[in-house]
Amino acid sequence: MKFLIIGPQGSGKGTQADLLAKRLGIPHISSGDLLRAEKQSGSVLGKEIAAMIDKGELVPDTMIWEMIKARLSEHPEGWLLDGYPRQLSQAETLDAYQAPDTVLVLDVPDEVCVERISGRRVCETCGRDYHIKYKPPKEPGKCDVDGSRLVQRTDDYPEAVRKRLADYHAKTAPLIEHYGDKIVRVNGDQGIQDVWQEIQKKLGI
Ligand code: AMP
Repeated sequence: MKFLIIGPQGSGKGTQADLLAKRLGIPHISSGDLLRAEKQSGSVLGKEIAAMIDKGELVPDTMIWEMIKARLSEHPEGWLLDGYPRQLSQAETLDAYQAPDTVLVLDVPDEVCVERISGRRVCETCGRDYHIKYKPPKEPGKCDVDGSRLVQRTDDYPEAVRKRLADYHAKTAPLIEHYGDKIVRVNGDQGIQDVWQEIQKKLGI
């Protein structure tokens, strides 16, 4: 079982990917999480990455592919990739290695994404994500898991969000045509549970 999940930032990809990966018993591999972990480590590579992701720019293909390939090679049984591929060149690299069987697309209008992102908060220690309105922590401003402070991601500031949405339409959306009949489209402009119901129904799981 090899899945991709595609959608603009703020479409709820990460949340749905967690639910789906748990249900199918496969790892949820998020390129953004891998990059943020490297950034957090303070390594030389992490500092280079930080400069790019904080501005909402894509990191070079070869850099992200090395990280993704290392994770995929640990899971021959299957995986759910979130955030990779983000452009055609990355899809070609992935397909030549192991092509996905199914590609889920979450459709959400830009204005909804912008509204969702403005309320997104992440734990500064473990990276778990919340939304002040739609997925609030039990105690305001604090992570449910480790009690650390919740902060706004630097690439969730308005200027970086506009850049990332423009990149999504120009570079990532063409993947929908590339993957043709592997595509399963889901309306992401609904509550978390409703989107999850629709995914289960469309995948027959
Ligand atoms: P995300 O959490 O998926 O929104 O990713 C956060 C940031 O990581 C993006 O804005 C990019 O700077 C970088 N990034 C994530 N995935 C990729 C990718 N496949 N290719 C290049 N850069 C990426």
